[in-house]
Amino acid sequence: MMRTPFISGRTVCELTFLGWLAFSLMAPRGFAAQPAGATPNRAPLQANAFNMLPLTSVKPAGWLLRELQIQANGLSGHLDEFWPDVGPASGWLGGTGESWERGPYFLDGLVPLAYLTGDERLIAKVKKWVDWTLENQQPDGWIGPARMTDWWPNYVMLKVLTQYQEATGDPRVIPLMQRYFAFQARHLDERPLQKWAIFRWHDEVLSILWLYNRTGDKSLLDLARRMQHLGHDWEAQFADFRYTGKTVKGEGTLADHGVNNGMAMKAAAVWWLLTGDAKDRQNLYQMLAALDRFHGQPNGIFSADEHYAGLDPSQGTELCAVVEAMFSLETDISILGDPALGDRLEKIAYNALPGTLTADAWGHQYDQQANQVMVSVANRRWSTNGPDSNIFGLEPNYGCCTANMHQGWPKFAAHLWMATPDGGLAVVAYGPSEVSALVANGVPVSIAETTDYPFREGVNLGVKTSQAVKFPLVLRIPGWAAGATVGVNGAALEGVKPGEFYRVEREWHNGDSVELHFPMRVVNSTWYNNSLAVERGPLVFSLTIGESWSHLRQTGPATDWEVFPTTPWNYALVVDPKTAVPSFTVTELPVGHQPFSLEGAPVEIAVKARRLPAWQIEDDSAGPLPVSPVTSKQPVETISLVPYGAAKLRITAFPFTQN
Ligand SMILES: [Zn+2]
Repeated sequence: MMRTPFISGRTVCELTFLGWLAFSLMAPRGFAAQPAGATPNRAPLQANAFNMLPLTSVKPAGWLLRELQIQANGLSGHLDEFWPDVGPASGWLGGTGESWERGPYFLDGLVPLAYLTGDERLIAKVKKWVDWTLENQQPDGWIGPARMTDWWPNYVMLKVLTQYQEATGDPRVIPLMQRYFAFQARHLDERPLQKWAIFRWHDEVLSILWLYNRTGDKSLLDLARRMQHLGHDWEAQFADFRYTGKTVKGEGTLADHGVNNGMAMKAAAVWWLLTGDAKDRQNLYQMLAALDRFHGQPNGIFSADEHYAGLDPSQGTELCAVVEAMFSLETDISILGDPALGDRLEKIAYNALPGTLTADAWGHQYDQQANQVMVSVANRRWSTNGPDSNIFGLEPNYGCCTANMHQGWPKFAAHLWMATPDGGLAVVAYGPSEVSALVANGVPVSIAETTDYPFREGVNLGVKTSQAVKFPLVLRIPGWAAGATVGVNGAALEGVKPGEFYRVEREWHNGDSVELHFPMRVVNSTWYNNSLAVERGPLVFSLTIGESWSHLRQTGPATDWEVFPTTPWNYALVVDPKTAVPSFTVTELPVGHQPFSLEGAPVEIAVKARRLPAWQIEDDSAGPLPVSPVTSKQPVETISLVPYGAAKLRITAFPFTQN
């Protein structure tokens, strides 16, 4: 059978209408929480640059809300109905089935998805799981399946519980966490951290600090320090980085493991909250620089299939590493307030994340490739992973991503806006949304962000308030946005600079409007073997390759797909020999129901290219990327590029020719 798994036109209309109807009906009960303030760090913790707002303060809108609704109608909203690992027999529901990380992983995305969409069906699912954990704490304080002894899955469950508490105010959460951390403090010596728990300590420290900020119990800070002491020394790893190439098969360790690194992208910043030492802040940048230099990919993420895999764009990155790196960067921006981290977050969220999911959110890959010319069961040159790692489906390679992928979009939506320490609001990443929060000394305001960003250059912020109120509005100006402008009620403001936060402090009135314009020039960036990637704003563009979707197998409602190319992919971009720049023609198209699909792609870029007949498939991936500049005697053609996330087959790192 050959067909594409994209939602058909008819279904789109039905889903859109039903989704809208359901959403509208549910809004008054499940969705529109009272605005709340952020909880700042208590002394002696360092202050965050921005404080995360309680879950449900930021609600997705526009295409981003549709993305979450598609997810709710896809695997995320149905996985527990047919995938045994999160089914009724889960140990996290009191059963005898899977009793390790998969239940908590699933909930870590399901909780924000349920409360951001206000979908009562999903909220009911959340309650069933969370209630089991809340009602089955052991007398000694242990949580989770009784026979499970690994600390690690509880790190994830604690993140679940903090989100759930923020969304619901459930009074059972905080006492349960107090009892659990007291238990851990008593038993950590006799039951030390093992394996994953050693390398992911920072993810529990986040929850320890969350609780400390709400209770002021200083023994929690001692526990946080013990966790760091017992955990892997990520800062040492990046202060003297030795992992400079692709991991040799069979020699991967937990230190060069992609998902651990995605999670660890928050380690140095979280630790800085306890130390206040500038070298801890700086270590995050050592980490990012090392990953960029030795493993960086044009889609915004580092390669790790399953361990560090080098710069070649035919290497892959595991989906868990993508969503974990996103949550780490959201945490880092909150702590450090660096606008460049927002640029980095958007690059992953708007490229690597959608690029590894099917448009209907029923299938995902384990490993995605920046240059991905065939999706099939085959032995590729991964550092570690198995033959089905790049197919789209239910459980390619291993089921961790099946359970863990759900957090990507919802947590991103929840963290677009944050609170400033002086009673204002900050936009740290852009996307259609509405924030409702308390500003100044407790005045409720909402700001609606109306935009088709990242597909369009304009963003409008509309202020809703019942009274005039003075507060700072802090706006991230992306580093690429030369010529960016900010206006208030039609009047342009001075001093807007790319790569900085721009602060507008004034008395705001109901109906005030802030107009942002971020010029999105097409630029090319340089990658492996001097290849070029084409970027416009936060989006990376890839060659449109004809896709033939081939049904591989069916598991309940979920389909596994292979995808084969039906058009050529071996192109070199033609660049001007004087400027070394290709000439691009940008066409803006309507923003489709699912903008990260070939049918719905809102932007296309036309560029001149010549084919390279010698560049062929090897080991079922694009063969070695020729070192540019290359020569080609093939005729010049015009090729079409679409956003990376829309192209499930693609070339992203192109050779170039000057002839
Ligand atoms: Zn995974």
